[in-house]
Amino acid sequence: MSKITIAIDGYSSCGKSTLAKALAQKLNYSYIDTGAMYRAVTYHFIKKGIIQNNNIPDMPRLLEELKHVVVYFQYNSQTRVSETYLNDENVERVIRGMDVAQNVSKISSIKEVREKMVASQREMGKHKGVVMDGRDIGSHVFPNAELKLFMTADTDVRTQRRLNELSSKGEYYTFEEVKQNLEKRDYEDTHRKENPLIKAKDAIVLDNTDLGKEEQLEFVLKLIDDLLLTQDEFKAVTKLH
Ligand code: C5P
Repeated sequence: MSKITIAIDGYSSCGKSTLAKALAQKLNYSYIDTGAMYRAVTYHFIKKGIIQNNNIPDMPRLLEELKHVVVYFQYNSQTRVSETYLNDENVERVIRGMDVAQNVSKISSIKEVREKMVASQREMGKHKGVVMDGRDIGSHVFPNAELKLFMTADTDVRTQRRLNELSSKGEYYTFEEVKQNLEKRDYEDTHRKENPLIKAKDAIVLDNTDLGKEEQLEFVLKLIDDLLLTQDEFKAVTKLH
């Protein structure tokens, strides 16, 4: 069966990566978490003191340092997930904290950062058979992706999901603090100049406010089945003529 590219975009904490991972496992595709890439770069710049409280006092230094940043994924057969590496350091856990979340939208709005990440994402997905989630995958990274999803959910529901995720890692914040961070990131991600978060014209909207993980997976697998069927029918027809 021919492999396709699946692009999943949407707002913060609406379950993109949960769905993307489940799809990748089911289809035996690779999963690329592009948010993790921007988070890893942000983590690097925080560690180097290049960004502090959303402030970048020395942009030329950031651009110089960017040249030495290498982000990649390595499959961990024990956890059965691809983990994020930054210059040989496994940063999978540390990039999920609030300090990174508070600075990542600023870093991801920088043109040179985006160009570097997008080039690497295109390289990773060039053979198809990939589920990639982020903010600009269907609109910019893979505009020809066969399946594009745009995910959304009620803000309070997303906040509660994110709060649960943080507390399961021992990070405790109030509902309001987490909600503010989500809203701020959504605002910055949709209003930046470089590849903002937008719904690609041909993306299918998936609002999962009231949907469980299984229902979402089932919904998308059905879409894929229909898509592949149409592709096969199309191939059969073009062969006949
Ligand atoms: O998906 P996640 O919440 O981990 O993404 C973290 C941040 O990375 C987003 O808020 C956004 O600023 C940035 N991002 C982006 N483009 C992508 C993926 C993520 O700008 N394709």
